[in-house]
Amino acid sequence: MAAVRKPLGEYKRKRNFSVTAEPAGGPVGKSRPAKKAARPRRLKYLIQLHDASRLHFDFRLELDGVLKSWAVTRGPSVDPADRRLAVEVEDHPLEYGSFEGIIPKGQYGGGTVIIWDKGHWIPEGDAIEGLRKGKLDFELRGKRLKGAFHLIRLPDREKKPRHPNWLLIKSRDEHARPGDGDAAMRDATSVVSGKTIAQMAKSKAAIWHSNRGHAGS
Ligand code: MN
Repeated sequence: MAAVRKPLGEYKRKRNFSVTAEPAGGPVGKSRPAKKAARPRRLKYLIQLHDASRLHFDFRLELDGVLKSWAVTRGPSVDPADRRLAVEVEDHPLEYGSFEGIIPKGQYGGGTVIIWDKGHWIPEGDAIEGLRKGKLDFELRGKRLKGAFHLIRLPDREKKPRHPNWLLIKSRDEHARPGDGDAAMRDATSVVSGKTIAQMAKSKAAIWHSNRGHAGS
């Protein structure tokens, strides 16, 4: 029996939007009248560097009206010989892709976020089918990451784990850097504001202050 899952349900459940400045995410999947003749829109790709209880990279691919999301602790490698663990987490709203700033302490994921890379992605074949089957081949066209990558889901003892483990692997192409997997990560600034995590954390403008007391717990 397939349980009906609310879009972004887990994302919304974890957050108090009167406290955090992260986007609340509107309804997903409702058809809106197109303003202009529909031109095939490019699918967003981005990576947020998130300094929470531990520093990690949040890898996000737009699909089906949401951002499919993976937490990549060690960050993406550009060496095809490296396999980086990517833990699938809950879908995020598309607007989340433009969020950088400070998530208040006590809130889910409390800490600092910068947009480390952004651009678009091109799935090879049917991405929804790929996600279901656990093998996704795609091209990234970001400012820092470019070229072919794949995500492969690892077998799990649980039948339907909430947060399945995947491997994020660079494919061999002209953008690969064998032997220098962390090459892309040497620049730890935001591609939007130019700020590092430390600079963002000090930025007073980035935090949203609540006068309504401590709604976090
Ligand atoms: Mn995160």
